[in-house]
Amino acid sequence: MTVLVPDGAAVRARPHRSSDPDIVATIGGTPLVALDRLFPPARFQVYAKCERFNPGGSIKDRAAKSMVEQAIASGRIVPGVSTVVESSSGNLGIALAQLCNFHRLDLVVVVDPRTTPQNLAIMRAYGAKVEVVEHRDPATGEYLPARIARVRHLLETVPDAWWPNQYANEDNARAHHGTMREIVEALPAAPDYLFLAAGTTGTLRGCAEYVHAENLPTRVVAVDAVGSVIFGPPEPWEAAHKRTIPGHGAAVVPALLRPGLADWVVKVTDSECIRGCRSLLAEESILAGGSSGAVIAALQQSAAWIEPGATCVAVLPDGGDRYLDTIYDDHWVESYLQQYLPPTEQERNTP
Ligand code: PMP
Repeated sequence: MTVLVPDGAAVRARPHRSSDPDIVATIGGTPLVALDRLFPPARFQVYAKCERFNPGGSIKDRAAKSMVEQAIASGRIVPGVSTVVESSSGNLGIALAQLCNFHRLDLVVVVDPRTTPQNLAIMRAYGAKVEVVEHRDPATGEYLPARIARVRHLLETVPDAWWPNQYANEDNARAHHGTMREIVEALPAAPDYLFLAAGTTGTLRGCAEYVHAENLPTRVVAVDAVGSVIFGPPEPWEAAHKRTIPGHGAAVVPALLRPGLADWVVKVTDSECIRGCRSLLAEESILAGGSSGAVIAALQQSAAWIEPGATCVAVLPDGGDRYLDTIYDDHWVESYLQQYLPPTEQERNTP
């Protein structure tokens, strides 16, 4: 069988043999490392699931693989014929670009001006077409609805186009049954607490479903961004905190979300998330992305109520390489933190 690659040249499709591991087969199986310096184990033990070790650099490789391969298996998309269209500002776009290149699918990623030049360059290097939506949705002032409107237009005009729709696609969530299984298998017993970042809530739903299906004692703590609407409308004080760091938090309630998936929700400001990243780097030599800093900040805030001797796992969704101009740039951080101070205890406790 021959398929077309984006430049029009015909190549032979690779035969798939299970004994023949390829780059897609390396998705998952990420390391779990102890964070003993940041969280001395005399109190409770913390391990980090380091998702940057996926070949596309983030946890979204799992979701992209699951969504694309299920769509191929069901016949919804055909390598060499179909075009995948998705809205993403970063990690999912990169993960899809890798998967679509591998499976000889065309890909259009709809982004907005906040997507970094480096992320755009990575997507293009994999052969994705990138469309930048320049204007925010007039009704909400957000880019997301404008990006979705562009996706809908492309679905109507591009032949054999398919939208994975990461906020509603159950295969996004199903990918994370494996994430939780790997965590449990790497430890002597299931952890007492799982701290994870919520965006599309695919990670949350998949891990929580596994916990419930296996009847595990693990309590799931979802980490959201101050100002996000995922778990309900923001409190009035949240309006003063602009949400800039991508990954966790959302401007819409994801269709994947179900009641009861999270035992607790912790909301973190951008400045707390920057501090979390910086402490992970200073103490553990881990250069992690913004939402990882949020997860660490949430753990630090929760330390007082985590019982002594507990085991906690923090899912770190990506690496810090994609945040060098922001979170790891002293000048950016200095001017940013001056603008947005963390909320006081009183603010947090005022309904
Ligand atoms: N952190 C980062 C860096 C991400 O890219 C994402 C995906 N948007 C998340 C956290 C949230 O993961 P999920 O979409 O599975 O909720």
